[in-house]
Amino acid sequence: MRIILSLVLFALSLQVFAHSSPNFLPKAWKIMGSLRPNNMALMMKNLSDLDIDVAGVDVRDNIIDVLLTDNDYKKLSTLGYSIEILEVKGVTKSPDEEYKNPEEIEQIVLDYYQRYPQLTERVSIGKSLEGRDIWALKISDNPNLDETQEPTILFNSMHHAREVMTPEVAIDIIDYLLSHYGQDAQVTDWVDKNQIWVIPMLNVDGNNKMWTSDRWWRKNTRGGYGVDINRNYPLNWKKCGGSSGSRWSQTYRGESAGSEPETQAMMKFVGQIKPVFNISYHAYSEIVIYPYGCNGERVARKEIVESIGKDIGTVLNYEAGTAWELLYSVDGGDIDWMYDAYEVIPYVIEVNSRKQGFQPDYNQWRDITVKRNRPGWMLLLDRLNASGVRGKINSNFKEARIDILSNGRKVHSYRVHSDGTYHIVLKPGSYDLNLVLDNSITSIKSITVSDSLERIEL
Ligand SMILES: [Zn+2]
Repeated sequence: MRIILSLVLFALSLQVFAHSSPNFLPKAWKIMGSLRPNNMALMMKNLSDLDIDVAGVDVRDNIIDVLLTDNDYKKLSTLGYSIEILEVKGVTKSPDEEYKNPEEIEQIVLDYYQRYPQLTERVSIGKSLEGRDIWALKISDNPNLDETQEPTILFNSMHHAREVMTPEVAIDIIDYLLSHYGQDAQVTDWVDKNQIWVIPMLNVDGNNKMWTSDRWWRKNTRGGYGVDINRNYPLNWKKCGGSSGSRWSQTYRGESAGSEPETQAMMKFVGQIKPVFNISYHAYSEIVIYPYGCNGERVARKEIVESIGKDIGTVLNYEAGTAWELLYSVDGGDIDWMYDAYEVIPYVIEVNSRKQGFQPDYNQWRDITVKRNRPGWMLLLDRLNASGVRGKINSNFKEARIDILSNGRKVHSYRVHSDGTYHIVLKPGSYDLNLVLDNSITSIKSITVSDSLERIEL
């Protein structure tokens, strides 16, 4: 009976849409629609001001997909926007069952850990608001040791609960590395020389809600309204209109910077492992994003951060840029914070295109998507042991930095980690490195960086 009623309502709503403006939508239904603006940046700004839920963007063809309540639809229509309706769907209809829920992710991580005890370590990085563990799997030789001489990399998925393809990419990274170890020389080398961490699902509560009550749920579950974890990081929090102060907005930033347990778990974990690179997987748009998120802002290490980001874009055939270049300003995002707090070189990769959609047909798109994304994370695994310097300072200090000079000009002032380790990604060339301990220069070293990672003592 319920099914028949739904079908009737669905047919009715389609009929109404056929006659342009819809008068009603059944409760808990939403419209997926497209806008084709002349001025992309301006339209994104307007949508943000109107608190419209942006599902994804096609930056090459200038199309924005939005998720609308009937109220949103009326609001946009009244303002004269023309919306092409793609789909009208009840929010309680789940995506393909093959996508993973938090319990399945927990089991998958446990299975790999048990199948590959010599190569993996399993860690809960903290608990979600509702008390679920957030799992991370480490892949390395000697996985139980913190081998500080080895570079570390982090891959994480699902800050946003509804982006169901993203844990699939994380699982593929785990599966590919473990199943090819000992068979494929390149994979064996990556695993032996580095410490590789994968967090397949950060927003476990939100994902549970996505399965149980709202297939388009994005945030965590704070207070029933939810906080967008990826607008909650403390750097640039609330800074530039790249988030919302309204609790029911999809980009609600939370009551205070770093207020959410999921954000805190990630921050603590990044502080512990100190990755050289990070990829945070999102969906969809087929783009690579690097920091910073606020309009006009660029990182001091632009030459390195942006060129590697563009290289990833090239191998994936995705567009690359800052969030404000490609989409809109973002504040309180994880990559800004990672870069600033621990000198991480971090990227967001938005997988899938608007043709495949938010929650693409699993059998049709899962394997294609994860394979398509392999060259991106592989490029960073290669880059870990490419040009740069790594080492550890053994003297005591409160604050240490390494000033990097090229032809007498300071190109970067790198903040050494509190445990004395440093890993500075550089282009091949000649540099002077000045070690500055508690504001006085204690050593100066001239080096030539080749194509591979140099181990140096300062
Ligand atoms: Zn996302």
